[in-house]
Amino acid sequence: MDVTAREDRKARAEQLVDALAADGVVAVATTFTDNAGITRVKSVPLARLPQLAAWGAGTTPSFDLFTFNDSIAAAPDGSTPVGDLRIMPDLDRVVRLAAQPGWAWIPGERYEQSGEPHAGCGRLLLRRLVDDLAAQGITMSAAVEVEWVVSVAGTDDFVPAALGPAYSLARLGDVSDYARELLEALTAQGVEVEQFHPEYAAGQLEVSVAAEDPLAAADTSILVRDTIRAVGRRHGMRTSFSPKVDISGVGNGGHVHVSLWRDGHNLMAGGDAEFGLTAEGASFTAGLLEHLPALMAIGAPSVASYLRLVPSHWAGAYSCWGLENREAALRMVTGSAGSDAWAANVEVKCFDLLANPYLVLAGIIAVGSAGMAAGTELPAPVEVDPAVLSEEELQSRGIDRLPQSLQTSTVLFEADDVLAEAFGSDLRGSILAVRHAEMEHFATATEEEVAAALRWTH
Ligand code: GLU
Ligand code: MG
Repeated sequence: MDVTAREDRKARAEQLVDALAADGVVAVATTFTDNAGITRVKSVPLARLPQLAAWGAGTTPSFDLFTFNDSIAAAPDGSTPVGDLRIMPDLDRVVRLAAQPGWAWIPGERYEQSGEPHAGCGRLLLRRLVDDLAAQGITMSAAVEVEWVVSVAGTDDFVPAALGPAYSLARLGDVSDYARELLEALTAQGVEVEQFHPEYAAGQLEVSVAAEDPLAAADTSILVRDTIRAVGRRHGMRTSFSPKVDISGVGNGGHVHVSLWRDGHNLMAGGDAEFGLTAEGASFTAGLLEHLPALMAIGAPSVASYLRLVPSHWAGAYSCWGLENREAALRMVTGSAGSDAWAANVEVKCFDLLANPYLVLAGIIAVGSAGMAAGTELPAPVEVDPAVLSEEELQSRGIDRLPQSLQTSTVLFEADDVLAEAFGSDLRGSILAVRHAEMEHFATATEEEVAAALRWTH
């Protein structure tokens, strides 16, 4: 980031100030998401936006080591929290927050004071990997599905604020004013909502959005969640995106849909491989499947994540893939006949919303690209719930359970060369420090205690 780039940013921001003021904006928030999956913020009065755009807002590098409960993990190299980073807002995305009047939001990226990119910034990492794909003529399209539960405000317990049966019109009726305001707010913010529905678990709802480029998709997932929380507050509801709100129930997933494109053609359709995958689409998917157990340390990043990954709960607890198979960690979606050219995609079901979406999409690109480079082949798809297969059948088909603890996925992440190379030693070291600190925190906790501790944090 040199002086000319800073001057350009300042000039762009100066132009934005008047337009934002005319829309009633008085303050601007800029954010980054940390390695524990929590989005942290700095904000400025609108008049300071040009200054923010050029020079950023100061923030401590210690945020790389923040855990879910705002403790700070021990630095991997023993360094002290000396130094300062700058959160630089990305003026390509400026959102007037419809449910938080007077506020605008701009996703941020973290730079060193020298102007160099901060090695621990997930959004800059994702940007770099998207550029690497583009250098091979490939773009990715992605979307994060958001599941959440609404709870009655005023208590830390989970008290469902929508009561009708799963997927029922009755439950939609319970929340119809809330849902209308939510859909209005998302639409006003430029989010293309594809669908909203009551989900399976008590008080659970879901919204799915259109696929976008990976950076935009990660930003959208942060924005959608912020909007859901904001609209909920206005309706006296508390929102939980936690993978396990209630021990006995089905959890909240954060399923990620991805497709690859070359010259306007979807590489997940129209090819000669299984279910119409092209050779590149198949090897990308195979790379994803091969590294998925290690990638769980990013996509299912909390001790609580593993409470959700129960077989026969649609969470994708087995390391396998299959056509429209909701129990496979990778669900191949081809769409209805005739729509595959634009609709076909691969859904990663085993991830949840405690994950940092920038790191998740960066990890997916890294391992998928490794699969393409190596020409990795997909195993046979699975057409049943793997939970019904005997131990022998699972073994002969090479189907394993995904890691059943953060401990296991962290060990696999630590041993994964592709992810080590993509994330770089600083970021990898911070992620490992945060994972270890959270595991230690919960070393003797019961499942109920883990669920309670993560219920309202993200
Ligand atoms: N709530 C389920 C999960 O834990 C997913 C339900 C669905 O297939 O949408 O991921
Ligand atoms: Mg769902």
